Amino acid sequence: MTKFSLSIALILIISTLTSVAQERDWVPADTEFYEPVPPVVEARGGFMEPPSDAIVLFDGTDFSAWESSRGGDVRWSLEDGAMTVTPRTGSIVTKDSFGSIQLYLEWRSPEVVLGDGQGRGNSGVFLQGRYEVQVLDSYNNETYVNGMAGSVYKQYVPLANPAVPPGEWQTYNIIFEAPEFDEDGELLEPAYITVIWNGVLVQNRVEVQGPTEYIGLPSYEAHGDGVISLQDHGNLVSFRNIWVRKLDESPVWDNNYPTE
Ligand code: MG
Repeated sequence: MTKFSLSIALILIISTLTSVAQERDWVPADTEFYEPVPPVVEARGGFMEPPSDAIVLFDGTDFSAWESSRGGDVRWSLEDGAMTVTPRTGSIVTKDSFGSIQLYLEWRSPEVVLGDGQGRGNSGVFLQGRYEVQVLDSYNNETYVNGMAGSVYKQYVPLANPAVPPGEWQTYNIIFEAPEFDEDGELLEPAYITVIWNGVLVQNRVEVQGPTEYIGLPSYEAHGDGVISLQDHGNLVSFRNIWVRKLDESPVWDNNYPTE
């Protein structure tokens, strides 16, 4: 074999191996990781009332800012200033679309513990309808750590686990930087997510890899502003006190300090 044909043969082998890797049949477990287990932190913090410039999405009285992801009215229940998933009625989405935002909400997993792992108090907050910050009862509940509460689902493990017992209210303060695309749909800037859970920083401006996928690896597709969605995962998870602040029009300061 000449050197030339040897290199051609090598290129062929490598490209075959590469295409085999790309054609892999992914199963959910391929993207589920059990380590590192975030340290448990005791915290009951972060409760906030909406600031004056916030858009209130839910104040406990009605679903006027929301609709069913299947179209039409929300079919979740509303009681004592909180909304609760009615299983199998579908997720709910905001009527308005958003770019970059600060999103605050309070959530509660059911006091009566049924199921385990991903079947226990599962819901989720989907930013622009695509990027999920997981909601799960993660109090003494083992599951893959990139799928526990405070995770960017199947992408980032939370830095800590400040979960409180089921039946108690918890807080999420999420800063979402929307991805940017050019006119050809190419990604200019990925999304970034910061999450403060019960007053504890658990995601520190992580670079989102693409829309949340249950199976396989994420990849971006161009999109504009999007809805906020709360997930019906079949569990009786409740939400209250939901508000958002738009960040797209935030002033950009240019600090021109004197140089001499
Ligand atoms: Mg979920």
